[in-house]
Amino acid sequence: MDHPDTMTRRSFLASTSCLGAALWAARLFPLPAMAEEIAAAGRVSSQPLADKGFASVRKIGDGVYATISDLSKGLDTVSNGGFIVGTDAALLIEGFRTPAGASFQYAALRQVSDVPVRAALDTHYHFDHTLGNAYYGAQGIAIWAHEKTAPLMVKVYGPGQEIARADRKAGIEKRIKNAKNESEREHWKGDLKALKLVSESVESAVVSLPNRPLDPSKLPATVDLGGIQAVIESYPGHTPGDLIVRVPQQNVVFTGDLLFNGMYPATSDADLGGWRKALETFSGYDKETLFIPGHGPLCGPEGIATLRSVFDDLAEQAGRMYKAGIPVEEAQQRYAVPERFKGFPIFAWSFCIGPAIAKLYEEFK
Ligand SMILES: [Zn+2]
Repeated sequence: MDHPDTMTRRSFLASTSCLGAALWAARLFPLPAMAEEIAAAGRVSSQPLADKGFASVRKIGDGVYATISDLSKGLDTVSNGGFIVGTDAALLIEGFRTPAGASFQYAALRQVSDVPVRAALDTHYHFDHTLGNAYYGAQGIAIWAHEKTAPLMVKVYGPGQEIARADRKAGIEKRIKNAKNESEREHWKGDLKALKLVSESVESAVVSLPNRPLDPSKLPATVDLGGIQAVIESYPGHTPGDLIVRVPQQNVVFTGDLLFNGMYPATSDADLGGWRKALETFSGYDKETLFIPGHGPLCGPEGIATLRSVFDDLAEQAGRMYKAGIPVEEAQQRYAVPERFKGFPIFAWSFCIGPAIAKLYEEFK
C-alpha cells in the first residue's frame, strides 16, 4: 500500500500536470456554449441551472438538460452530456473524464428532481466519456453502454496498458526530435500533450466499467421515464460501439462523439464510411432538431453539415495525394487545414487527421 504522503504527492503531481494540460486545452478550445442561431432561437435557457466553470447545465426542453463543457475553465467533464427527467425516472448521459464531472451532473439533476435514476449511459468507451463512472457506481446507478464499450475500456485503459502508452510516448518523443520540419514537429508536440492527458486521466482514475451492456441488434430501445421517452440507437462511426439518445417528442438528439461541432473529429477508432453514412442520416432529421454534440457548442443541422464537409475535405485532399503517389506517412503530415476550418480545434494531429488520411488511403486501394 502507498504511504499517505506518497499518495498526496502523487495526486498533487497529477493535478498540477493536468493544469498544464488545461492551459494548453484552453488555447485550443475557446468555444461558446451554443451556436449563435441556437442562442437566438431562445430554445436553450440563457441562465444555466448550474455552472462550475468547467461545465454548465442548461435546460433545453421540458425535462431535458444539456451539460456543456468549457475546457478553458477545467477538464473535469471534457465532453458534453446531459440528462432527461420524467415523472417516474431520469436518465443521465455520459460518465465524463472524472468522478467530479459525473458528480456535478448528478447534483444538477437533484436540483430539479428526486426521481430514481434509471441509468447513466456512456455513449462510447473514450476516457472523456467514461472515467467518471465510478461516481455513478458509488450511488448504485446502473451504467449502460454498447456491449463493446466495457471490453474496449479493458483493452485500452485496463491493467498493463500503461506500458503501451509509455512506448507510444517514447515513439512520439523520438519523432519530435527527428521531425523533418517545424509543422511536423508541432503536430507531434500536440500529440504528446494529448497522450499525456489520456495517461494522466486513466492513471488517476478508478476505471469503472458499464455493467449493463446493450446489444445493438436489440436497438432502438425506448425508455419510458414517465411522460417523456428517450430512444437509444446505435450507429457506426466514431468507435466500434457508439450510442445516441434521442428525445423525439422534442427534437433533441444527444449524439456522443458522432458529432464534433466546429472542430476536427477524433478518428483513431473510426469507421469513416459508417460515420459519414450516420451523418447523412442525421442530416435527414427535422430541421428544428437540437443536437448536443460530444464536443463543441450545441447546434442545429448546420453542425452536421459542417462535419460532413470536414470529412469531404479530408477525403478530397487524401484522394489527390493518393493519386499523386504520395506515401501515406507523408500524406498524413501534409494535409492542409483549409481557410474555412482554420479556427477549428484539433485535439491532436495523430488522433484526428493522421488516422483519417490512413483510413481513406485504405478505402482507395
Ligand atoms: Zn470519443
